[in-house]
Amino acid sequence: MESSIADICAMHQAYLLLGSNQGDRTSYLNQAREALASIGLIRQSSSFYETAAWGLTEQPAFLNQALLLETELEPLVLLESVLQIEKNLGRERKERYGPRTLDIDILLYDDLIYQHERLTIPHPELPNRRFALTALSEIAGTAVHPLFERTLDELLTQCPDPLAVTRLT
Ligand code: ADP
Ligand code: MG
Repeated sequence: MESSIADICAMHQAYLLLGSNQGDRTSYLNQAREALASIGLIRQSSSFYETAAWGLTEQPAFLNQALLLETELEPLVLLESVLQIEKNLGRERKERYGPRTLDIDILLYDDLIYQHERLTIPHPELPNRRFALTALSEIAGTAVHPLFERTLDELLTQCPDPLAVTRLT
């Protein structure tokens, strides 16, 4: 069988969530997008959203943005790349849920359901985090979550997270 260009370099649609709550948050998100543009094409970007910190609450509020990245990278390679970008932009891993200059999470990747010791797709906390669902549904509200078989708009309506999310203009 003849293989087409599309088979040889298959493109994947990865929805990512950027987050920052340390230093110049806007600048970290902007630098993250610039770095991500070297591993794929940013097809869509949501607005910036501000949310009180989740988990450890005695820390600055988060700025979040969802992106659609079209990329050839396979899931684990994509994870390595985004962790490297976090590191290059000054992320230090201290306490879980602690303040960070930059967090990049993989929310969805095509219709993939994937479980690995270092990577779970879809992101397991997505349905429980209003800030993630709010940003993601702005750019992918009608997309269907492959595990729950509901649209992101529906998951947002059903989200139990009480933390307020504010869209910045
Ligand atoms: P969190 O994003 O939950 O606050 P971290 O950013 O410190 O925590 O991530 C910790 C680890 O979570 C990463 O090193 C990575 O191996 C793992 N991980 C599992 N699934 C995902 C995912 N879908 N996106 C990003 N990281 C993930
Ligand atoms: Mg993370």
